[in-house]
Amino acid sequence: MSDAASILARAEDTLRPLHRVASQAWWDSSRSATEEHERQRVAAELALSDALADPDLYREVSSARQNGGDGLAPRALDVLYYGLVPNQVPEEIRHRIVELEASVDSRFTQHRATVVGRQVDDNEIRRILRESDDVAERREAWEGSKTVGAAVADDVRQLARLRNEAARGLGYRDWFALAVATMEMDEGRLFETLGECDRLTAEPFARWKAATDAELARRFGCAVEELRPWHYEDVFFQEVPVTGSVDTSETFAGTDVVELARRTFDGLGLRTGPILDRSDLFPRDGKSQHAFCIDIDREGDVRVLANVEHDSYWADTMLHELGHGVFDLGYDGSLPWLLREAHLTVTEGIAIMMGALAQESSWLRDVAGLDSDEAESLDAALRRRRAAESLVFVRWVLVMTNFERALYADPEADLSRVWWELVARHQLLTPPEGRHEPDWAAKIHIASAPVYYHTYLYGRLVATQLHATLDREAGGLVGRPEAGAFLTEHVFAPGQSIRWDRLVERATGSPLTVDSLSREIAAAAPA
Ligand SMILES: [Zn+2]
Repeated sequence: MSDAASILARAEDTLRPLHRVASQAWWDSSRSATEEHERQRVAAELALSDALADPDLYREVSSARQNGGDGLAPRALDVLYYGLVPNQVPEEIRHRIVELEASVDSRFTQHRATVVGRQVDDNEIRRILRESDDVAERREAWEGSKTVGAAVADDVRQLARLRNEAARGLGYRDWFALAVATMEMDEGRLFETLGECDRLTAEPFARWKAATDAELARRFGCAVEELRPWHYEDVFFQEVPVTGSVDTSETFAGTDVVELARRTFDGLGLRTGPILDRSDLFPRDGKSQHAFCIDIDREGDVRVLANVEHDSYWADTMLHELGHGVFDLGYDGSLPWLLREAHLTVTEGIAIMMGALAQESSWLRDVAGLDSDEAESLDAALRRRRAAESLVFVRWVLVMTNFERALYADPEADLSRVWWELVARHQLLTPPEGRHEPDWAAKIHIASAPVYYHTYLYGRLVATQLHATLDREAGGLVGRPEAGAFLTEHVFAPGQSIRWDRLVERATGSPLTVDSLSREIAAAAPA
């Protein structure tokens, strides 16, 4: 066996079982945030982190990368190397980070907001902000959604300090720089893309928001200047409110969105049964209120955690998470374990593309059973809605990414001020007067998935570019097994054997750019 092959074989033998145990522990603690589960999760993550910190392995991998190797070995060495780098930090710091992350995460999982004197879950907050015309109640629901921020803010700030200390010890400017680099991305390029997206969306977003604000002011009987964040539907304004847009909620009344999602993937020839059988899909006390998909063993044990209600939001989310899931089931089984994973940008691209189907007329007709005349009459409005979703989403990513860069540049800054300045600048929201709460810390990604959000932006670009490719190559997506076959062959099967940017270029025929996003926005602009 060559040097590279034997290093990779030993690394796999060590990491593979630890990875599986850590994934299972994460799953257990998300299903039920007990002290026991938190303890098990910390132990499993420390064991994995200790193995990834192994200085001998790091030295061997670093030197083997210089010598190249045959076949997939150079690529596997790269992927392994980027997994080892963030762990080459003093044990004490590493362990404190793992413990603090688990503790913050448990508090997120246990936390329930109080609105009008009773405990409510995130679904109830979403319902109030969708349906209630009582502005006082809306405000209380919005404020309730932020209380988790106050419960974790000090520790999230402390995590930023610890992550920075780790990154600086490795010669990086801060954790933000390290995280982007170890995702095989270029920070300069990332901020160029963010700048392009900013320029592309600023004017159409402002126009769309002015029209939406006028509708909201009419609905709530106030002046546009009096609108505050709780007048919108999503607690972070990361989604398009139904007010002023097309309302598809009737279509979902009495449906089973899990079944709709299953049928969608059936239509692509992609099996989701094995995933759904292992999943935990409905709300419960003590369970994480978010949604995620996890690949436990890279051998077919893929699960989704969700809190499904049968509405458009959860239809989108189930399509999204199962999009991640079919990706994980689609790796070429002959790939080495180290390469049987997806780059975040590409898997988010698939997930976002699938989730967006819940707003496409062909999906509403063929899968959700909307009358075909009605589907046709809604088509133009749905296109505008999808373009609006892209605008709203891009503006929100600008807030998140710029905030996280600022957080790691200076964790001691007045972060509430930084947050609301970014929200006002990019999302054009009016901050509540005199509010000094750590609202930034209520966004779970900042604590638990640090420096992740920019992958959603690239993911959205991948989604629009890939959708255009599927329209061309397979005549569309809904009910097209050809599209499923294309995705399996060109996107899922290669896993990490091809670097993410090359994979996108090979699958779509051109490098990843903002062009398809630009076309989507332009096509929906009012004449
Ligand atoms: Zn996702």
